[in-house]
Amino acid sequence: MESSQIEFTRYINKVKETRAKITPQRMEILNIFLNNKNEHFTAEDIIKRLNTKTGQATVYRTLELFCQASILKKVNFKNEEFLRYDLLDLKNKHFHHHLVCNKCGKVMEINDDFLDHIEFKVLQDYDFITLNHELILNGICKDCQKDTENEK
Ligand SMILES: [Zn+2]
Ligand SMILES: [Zn+2]
Ligand SMILES: [Zn+2]
Repeated sequence: MESSQIEFTRYINKVKETRAKITPQRMEILNIFLNNKNEHFTAEDIIKRLNTKTGQATVYRTLELFCQASILKKVNFKNEEFLRYDLLDLKNKHFHHHLVCNKCGKVMEINDDFLDHIEFKVLQDYDFITLNHELILNGICKDCQKDTENEK
């Protein structure tokens, strides 16, 4: 495991590449994402978690900046009216996959790509180079499977 300091620097450097200034608020927002890697926060969630008083516009601007810097990605798994933000894993070539439970709405992440075979086939059969992909699998999570069994 790399130290959290090295990891933090790696993400901050991506933001610096956009020539944006690194402010204390921006660092705090980045840390919220780094400390909660499996969450998919809304802007509202971030505002609630911030210790320093930060205006709503600043938070939205920062999230937009992080998307431009390719450290966050906008996601929407359940046709919600608001956006959620997902931290990209800078060490992975492609975006991670998501499992979404139809019953409780829980979202889980899969970090194994699993698609190498498909990517290779697509290159062979369609002469198409896969740069990225978004995969959502809808279904029933482990906990909800148990609940269904108890109902029987
Ligand atoms: Zn995710
Ligand atoms: Zn892939
Ligand atoms: Zn569930």
